[in-house]
Amino acid sequence: HGPSKPKRIKALDPDVVNKIAAGEIIVAPMHALKELIENAVDAGSTAIEVLVKDGGLKLLQITDNGHGIDRDDLPILCERFTTSKLKEFEDLSSIGTYGFRGEALASISHIAHLTVTTKTAGSSCAWRAHYGDGRLVPAKPGQNAAPKATAGRGGTQITVEDLFYNVPTRRRAFRSTSEEYAKILDVVGRYAVHCSGVAFSCRKHGDSGVSISTAASASIVDRIRQIHGSAVANEVVEFEAADKKLGFRASGMATNANYHVKKTTILLFINHRAVESTSVKRAVEQTYSAFLPKGGHPFIYLDLAIEPHRVDVNVHPTKREVNFLNEDEIIELVCNEIRSKLAQVDSSRTFLTQS
Ligand code: ADP
Ligand code: MG
Repeated sequence: HGPSKPKRIKALDPDVVNKIAAGEIIVAPMHALKELIENAVDAGSTAIEVLVKDGGLKLLQITDNGHGIDRDDLPILCERFTTSKLKEFEDLSSIGTYGFRGEALASISHIAHLTVTTKTAGSSCAWRAHYGDGRLVPAKPGQNAAPKATAGRGGTQITVEDLFYNVPTRRRAFRSTSEEYAKILDVVGRYAVHCSGVAFSCRKHGDSGVSISTAASASIVDRIRQIHGSAVANEVVEFEAADKKLGFRASGMATNANYHVKKTTILLFINHRAVESTSVKRAVEQTYSAFLPKGGHPFIYLDLAIEPHRVDVNVHPTKREVNFLNEDEIIELVCNEIRSKLAQVDSSRTFLTQS
């Protein structure tokens, strides 16, 4: 028999499309949290509190003291592609905020129960709204879905409950809630080091103490100390690099040759977004191999600012990776700077032991 007849092509139901998209953007609780932290920072917050239950699968709550959300915007808040940050496609090349696609809250509302409580400076009360599948939904079946007036402080509290409740295969893929909590602490810790002027705290539901706590006024070294310990903070040196032609400025903190551990830690921010880069990691490890014993690795915080039009932030659904022009040249200049700092510390140490 010959080839079978092709099946007809049909458009997917919008709810199916949205659920698929949501699963690409929010792979694990840490991705939801990263988006919510970035929103809070974008809103000009100076204090951000995170509360977590069951590794974020049961509850992820983030409370900020930012500018809040207008009551009249609440009905469309969780629709896909609604944003206060991007208007034209061209704006993508000059984007100064973390968010830009208006997809985060929409996605979360398709795979979790989402509650928003928010108060702007101009409003006499806070407003609370519940969301499901991109739309306002009532708090209890049969009730009115409209936002309700409530008491509350200035800023926004986002509560995400039962993440992936309607994606059972994804829900079952998480074996350990403590593993997910560790990833959440990693994300909060990264932003806590990077965001000067913002106080961060992260707490596990039911625990009396906090896992992370930094003050708004803490310096970068103090933030590194609070999150990564004195062993790291006591051995970091500051570095800076810049080049007009390549359109970048870099600054950061790197451990000297007195410090080494089994695994490299790189806190990499490109235009204030926490990202990962295998090429940066490879170059950094190569640089340190001349200074550290075999198997020893450094800690590095690298804050890279690149002219927005040279960066493509839109290559990855979770925005985990970004592409930028002249990557190799920029990385080389940064590593040269680190190398010369390490050499300085190394020679002063040799000098001290000799004298
Ligand atoms: P994006 O950040 O890409 O614009 P989001 O879905 O993350 O999209 O958020 C949609 C909009 O909701 C934002 O543009 C912003 O106006 C508002 N918003 C979200 N979170 C907060 C917050 N914590 N404080 C103030 N406004 C917020
Ligand atoms: Mg956002």
